[in-house]
Amino acid sequence: MLSLAFAAWCAVAPLPPPLPWNGKSRELIAKPDSRWITVAEKTGFHATSTYEQTVVWLKQLALAAPEVRLVSLGRSPEGRDILMVIVSRDRLFTPETLQRAARPTLFVQAGIHAGEIDGKDAGLMFLRELTVGGRWRSLLDKANFMFVPIFNVDGHERASQYGRINQRGPDVVGWRTNAQNLNLNRDYTKLDTDEMRAMVAALDRWRPDLYMDIHVSDGSDYQYDVTFGWNAGVHSPRSTRWLEGTLAPALRSALHAMGHIPGPLIPEDPVNGLTMVTLPPRFSNAYGDLRHIPSMLVETHSLKPYEQRVLGTLVLLQSTLQTLGLEGVALKRAAMYDTESRPDPVPIDWRVPPASANIEMMDYLAVESRTSPSTISGSTRTEYLGQPVTRPLAVYRQNEVSLSIPRTKAYWIPPAWGSIADRLKMHGGSVERISEARDVAVDMYRLDNPKFEAEPFEGHTRVATTPRIEHRTERFPAGSYRVSTEQPLGDLVTVLLEPASSDSFLQWGFFHPIFQRTEYSEAYVTEPMAEQMLAADPALKSEFDRRLATDEAFRASAEQRLDFFYSRTPFADPRWRLYPIARER
Ligand SMILES: [Zn+2]
Repeated sequence: MLSLAFAAWCAVAPLPPPLPWNGKSRELIAKPDSRWITVAEKTGFHATSTYEQTVVWLKQLALAAPEVRLVSLGRSPEGRDILMVIVSRDRLFTPETLQRAARPTLFVQAGIHAGEIDGKDAGLMFLRELTVGGRWRSLLDKANFMFVPIFNVDGHERASQYGRINQRGPDVVGWRTNAQNLNLNRDYTKLDTDEMRAMVAALDRWRPDLYMDIHVSDGSDYQYDVTFGWNAGVHSPRSTRWLEGTLAPALRSALHAMGHIPGPLIPEDPVNGLTMVTLPPRFSNAYGDLRHIPSMLVETHSLKPYEQRVLGTLVLLQSTLQTLGLEGVALKRAAMYDTESRPDPVPIDWRVPPASANIEMMDYLAVESRTSPSTISGSTRTEYLGQPVTRPLAVYRQNEVSLSIPRTKAYWIPPAWGSIADRLKMHGGSVERISEARDVAVDMYRLDNPKFEAEPFEGHTRVATTPRIEHRTERFPAGSYRVSTEQPLGDLVTVLLEPASSDSFLQWGFFHPIFQRTEYSEAYVTEPMAEQMLAADPALKSEFDRRLATDEAFRASAEQRLDFFYSRTPFADPRWRLYPIARER
């Protein structure tokens, strides 16, 4: 039981003071007697609708508006439908018809982190104004809209006042992770969860022209209320140019006009400069970029009141759909170009370029703070004072390729690792199954120095290795898989299968059995064998003597000394630490 003192002091999080705000976007709130008012509006943005309330509201809307259709993308572990709303003037409600439509389609996803639920409430208001409300009905003349109001449905129903300690409302919110305590926004590549399998299947089937994932930030205090962006280093350069050059200016001016303060994504407290990061594809917008669906990440600012955040998100949705309707042809063309290009080598990691003479600067809209020594942490304490201040800040873009891999024609997967082929298929990749055994000239990786992480991460023990190439002719039995990289998802296939990539199945720990040694030699066998080997091979003897002389740990370890010989016999497992997926030569 909680003590009274605990309850009194800790039930409300002492957030820094809010900045005053009275944006023009307040005009967009429904009148109290509106039939289509949302729970958030009705409660003065204190509450957000439950899953049940949301479903009921959407079903009523679909009855009242023939251009609205509800579909289920799949079920959560606790059995809830993950609902998607489709809004199409011409009632194109199937993937086939919507993909062929001349009008571009915006796909918005809310509540991947269920406590960060601004996108749901903004999206419901937006649906109203596209349809029965009528304010923005004309947007549907030029674009279609798909919307998942609550992606992490089980997390959304794990609701309490204590879901988001750093966030200013709503009063009761859901939880970040799903019912298995897995973070859906780390699952785009490995596809462990039912929810993400449903989402990735939807992206593959419906192929939206623009994908938006809406969150709420944590981190430092600043003036921006709506921040948005995309990766600095990219797999889809043409469409990213459209996002940067066409979409971003339109969104910034729409948000300014309605009294909001748009800003770039702020990943940490930018004291010494702002780094525009390149996220790995386990994250939504990075995954979209990798499979050539133009994608953006939205983070409203957690310390802004809920009303301000929802209205800012609503303005952002309106402006995005409008811009897509007006300029979507260029984006479709750019995405097509990105999808058809076959970069060689394939970039898999990025860094900030070494310091250049011209440092890019920005006026950062900060909030005044003071620091003092802390008796609590023993370090420094920061207090935000609620006063806006503008600071010049250096900007660093993580957009220089630091690691890339030569593009192979195809990967070969033996049938024993069919589960990996299955996951590639879940992404929508084409995988060919071989009906007869084949000898293939390949490059394979020997994975030296595996380092396993000490703590589990997202249900996995991650591992990093030093891959070393071996040229081999390898026999692939009937039932093996050949995965060509000459396909729209070729870059994704490469990133998932190359062990050097941080989001590879290997690094996520799907191949741990190959690191086990499963056969061994008794010392009474190795000893006489070693004597024979030393007598027959003077070079081996001098290598052994040199190790004894120079490597103290080796000299002290009976195990290592015996293994020196055993590992050189044909009895030692030649496939130990051999990554079973091969690159066709
Ligand atoms: Zn989030």
